[in-house]
Amino acid sequence: MPSARYSREIPARYRIEGSRCKKCGRGALPARKTCPACGSTEMEPAKFSDVGTVLTWTKLHVGASFMTLDTPYGMAVIETEDGCRLTAPLAGADAADLETGMKVRLVLRRITEEGSEGIICYGTKAVPA
Ligand SMILES: [Zn+2]
Repeated sequence: MPSARYSREIPARYRIEGSRCKKCGRGALPARKTCPACGSTEMEPAKFSDVGTVLTWTKLHVGASFMTLDTPYGMAVIETEDGCRLTAPLAGADAADLETGMKVRLVLRRITEEGSEGIICYGTKAVPA
């Protein structure tokens, strides 16, 4: 069975669903009960765009244990066109192709396998738009 955390984050991973602050409009992915910008607890469910811009990025030579076969790979901080920030690995391109301001599309991709059954877990990755 996938971990409880993975199951909780399925809406964010599969559909880019999180929360938006009713007070200042800041998006949070995955959903939060408290706004990361203003501290308000007035958050509402929100779905975010799958199109975004790379704000900053790095090239990982030592990645998470489940991504060692993919190293080196690019990891980017992305802001969706409707203002939600998230961190996602790059797919479908070499890390050398990453640059600040680059347009990307968020897509569902295989991330890892969990448990003795080898259940495949999916998550959000960024591909050049
Ligand atoms: Zn806020």
